[in-house]
Amino acid sequence: MFQPDLLKGKRILVTGGGTGLGRSMSHRFLELGANVVICGRREDVLEQTAEELTKETGAEIETVRCDVRLPDAVEAMMDRIWQKRPLDILVNNAAGQILAPTHKMSSRAIDAVLGIVLHGSAYCTVAAGRRWIDAGERNKVVMSILTVSALLGAPFTVPSAMAKAGVLAMTKSLAVEWGPRGIRTCAIVPGLFPTEGAWSRLMPKERGGDEELVKTIPLRRVGEHIELANLAAFLVSDGAAYINGDAVVIDGGKMQSGGGGASTQSMLDWTDEQWEAIRPKKK
Ligand code: NAP
Repeated sequence: MFQPDLLKGKRILVTGGGTGLGRSMSHRFLELGANVVICGRREDVLEQTAEELTKETGAEIETVRCDVRLPDAVEAMMDRIWQKRPLDILVNNAAGQILAPTHKMSSRAIDAVLGIVLHGSAYCTVAAGRRWIDAGERNKVVMSILTVSALLGAPFTVPSAMAKAGVLAMTKSLAVEWGPRGIRTCAIVPGLFPTEGAWSRLMPKERGGDEELVKTIPLRRVGEHIELANLAAFLVSDGAAYINGDAVVIDGGKMQSGGGGASTQSMLDWTDEQWEAIRPKKK
């Protein structure tokens, strides 16, 4: 799909790169020649992923333990990364989620989600951007991984929707503020991509099995990690150098399916007989 050296020479930090979609994007970036750093809170997870990714791609990968909720820890991580070589691309991917009625959420739970997604993305973005701007470096990219809830809102995951909407606002604002300085921003809005993290937190069996979920997606399947990883590779590459401030939705058309209201969803599976039954009869 891409030339094999699409990302050659690019140094990329993927926050939350030890698991799930962050791991899959890191894998693809490495395959395409990038130099990748992954961060997260669990050192053992990072180490194991790094070992596996090196085995799978033959490329070396760096790990930094960092809790992105803590601004000092983020600065220390960026110092450590910059000591070796400045970044070219930041991918804000780390996230946390809680599925619960909003009026029953504790302030701690709300702070935890806002801390990782909203504050963490802001700290990482500002820490990288300041270093690029101070050094007069250009052709840099900040890409953030959002959720559909950033665009439409979502019941029962309200702190996440709020935080992701904030990151979208950051993406749009910095496209204008930092564009003239040679830094562009963009985002991906994923639909449903099975990962251990998201599925364990957001898909309890009470919500219906994967079969029920798939019925809500026009393409009748969940996303494959490689599909998102390829989009990510394109967006951070020089091939996408004129994309700035935009968020690309990759969800099999799920976001569009709200138009007719929830009741039209079941009509997608109607038989010809059911359609015939509601056809106006000739008088
Ligand atoms: P995941 O596997 O749980 O990934 C989350 C990652 O974030 C973990 O590696 C975690 O590592 C890291 N993280 C959490 N808190 C952190 C902190 N305070 N500091 C640093 N790292 C932290 O989930 P995923 O499904 O791959 O999600 C990846 C991204 O895609 C998220 O932004 C998510 O909102 C978005 N997304 C996913 C889906 C989906 O269907 N999977 C749909 C829409 C959007 P540690 O726990 O070790 O810190």
